[in-house]
Amino acid sequence: MTKVVLATRNHHKVEELREILADVCGELDLDIVGLDEFPDAPDVVEDGVTFDENAVLKATSAAETTGLPALADDSGLAVDVLGGAPGIFSARWSGSAGPGADRANLELLLAQLGDVREEHRGAAFVCAAALVLPDGRSAVETGRFPGRVAHEPRGTGGFGYDPIFVPEEQPAPGESRTLAEYSAQEKNGVSHRFRAFRALAPQLRELLRP
Ligand code: IMP
Repeated sequence: MTKVVLATRNHHKVEELREILADVCGELDLDIVGLDEFPDAPDVVEDGVTFDENAVLKATSAAETTGLPALADDSGLAVDVLGGAPGIFSARWSGSAGPGADRANLELLLAQLGDVREEHRGAAFVCAAALVLPDGRSAVETGRFPGRVAHEPRGTGGFGYDPIFVPEEQPAPGESRTLAEYSAQEKNGVSHRFRAFRALAPQLRELLRP
């Protein structure tokens, strides 16, 4: 079995990716593990200016530290009328990280879009997924999950901007749910992360086939 490391210490993200790539892992006999197996792995300074750059930075560091093929992702919310912001600054849009940041971020964004009419509230969650091999070969793909920014938060599921994001494609016709009103299963099968890693699947097959 070939180990592939996902550049995260979040066990839920590892589980989610195992499900997203279950077919590829079965075919190529891959075992996706997290960076928690490598306590000495350094924290990466995410100083890229695009999602792609940051995903490649994280995967490159994980491949160098572990000597294993490495996967990483970087994601955020891109609002059309703000020229793609918060974008790579999504996690710290209100200036702080840590507890309370998610709420502060979405409240700031709602205030910024206060006077923006329905037809101009288009946005997308974007995710870049990168694969970097210890020999330096790499691939990166982007997934977009389009929708619009709601006028107020709704729902208790998910995290981040989920309570104010209404996906364009809804689980059932005529619905207008926010992503925080989706079940985890509904979200994980359509999300930007799902789309980015599925887009990366052909490159995984090409670069990791024994
Ligand atoms: P990360 O790159 O996955 O750590 O995401 C960076 C930031 O983007 C998060 O802190 C959230 O603010 C936002 N974000 C990314 N993905 C999602 C999502 O699925 N729902 C809500 N917010 C998200």
